Amino acid sequence: MQSPDFLTSTLNLIRESCEISGIDEKYMRLLSRTDKKLIVEYPVSMDDGNVSFIKAFRIQHTNALGPYKGGIRISPMSSEAEVTALSMLMSLKCAILGLPYGGSKGGIVSDAGKLSRNELERVCRGYIRAISSVIGPDMDIPAPDMNVSEESIGWMLDEYEKMAGHSVPAVITGKPVVLGGIKGRKTAVAWGGIFIMEEAERLYNCKCKSFAIQGFGNVGGSLASILYEKGKKVVAVSDSTGGVYLEDGLNIPALFKHKAKTGSVTGFKDARDITNKELLELETDFLVPAATEDQITGKNAADINARAVLSLANGPVDKRASEILNDRGIFVIPDVLANGGGVVVSHFEWAQGRQGYAWSGPQVSGNLKLIMKKAFRDVHDVSVDYKKDMYTAAYILGVNNIVSALKARSI
Ligand code: GLU
Repeated sequence: MQSPDFLTSTLNLIRESCEISGIDEKYMRLLSRTDKKLIVEYPVSMDDGNVSFIKAFRIQHTNALGPYKGGIRISPMSSEAEVTALSMLMSLKCAILGLPYGGSKGGIVSDAGKLSRNELERVCRGYIRAISSVIGPDMDIPAPDMNVSEESIGWMLDEYEKMAGHSVPAVITGKPVVLGGIKGRKTAVAWGGIFIMEEAERLYNCKCKSFAIQGFGNVGGSLASILYEKGKKVVAVSDSTGGVYLEDGLNIPALFKHKAKTGSVTGFKDARDITNKELLELETDFLVPAATEDQITGKNAADINARAVLSLANGPVDKRASEILNDRGIFVIPDVLANGGGVVVSHFEWAQGRQGYAWSGPQVSGNLKLIMKKAFRDVHDVSVDYKKDMYTAAYILGVNNIVSALKARSI
């Protein structure tokens, strides 16, 4: 991961989309900075009696369309540059999907896998205490991102409510259902991706049968399960330890059991172990990067052999790669559209918290489907109007929606 490059390429995308749309330079400059950066360092007691100082960020990009919205990730590689870029992607994503939100992101610099459960709880509670002055249901609404579980969100909610002295369910999304969470949030990104893919199949009159998925966590794992149940062939998956390939399609429920037992997808019976690089280069209908940013760049885009790429991680395909893939006839569905299912269902959860009325599972999936399919068509319409690929079109739509809100506020 190269965070400064990720930020630079995000800024380049914003600048280019503004230029294509003829947006005044002052708005371009406004969208290229952030409203607020909170950088904290807070003490956490470790189980061995020592104290660790945890560095963390909450970065708010723009709230032109509504309160800031964005997840929190826990990663030893998290940095100000990475979280800044991710906050910008959240603004664009919400604007493309038509959600009443701006964009923000949180990062906690820590290796969640090396913490005990009690230490992790203290890290999560400490983070919320440290950023409590800048979050709230009408201000900034955090959610899960990489390495943040539903249980961690429950601790964060509890900590915030203890400080507030009353219940505030709409302050955070991705909560356990018993604490006001919504049905279907955990699988929302994966289902959103499926709806987008179905719309692409319908529009281009094709059927996608084989898939290679990079990432076997909440997003990649859920997608693999849904595809398996739909009778599609998931020929390869990978996690941080490596990948596995089986031409006839992997048995995903058995692979989950194998991973639970061994801690890795590799060494799975009948399948061949492959590297992450080999997975990215496989000949499949859909390649799904569902792990982290900067996976397909100008350096390896010429080696990709899938027919289409569905970007379910944040920032896995950079601008240069999207151009190369586009020139080679590989259809790229950008992250700011493809992985929007998470924040769409977060929006339902936020509304549910304010209504005090629980949505049903079918209500969630029905509305998610409508929003994802409409967003796909909106981006497609822009791509036809501007004669640009879907990747560029998504950014054009995002910046235009944000700039319309800025203009309506006379900013
Ligand atoms: N972390 C997710 C994302 O990048 C979800 C954000 C949210 O639900 O607010 O889209």
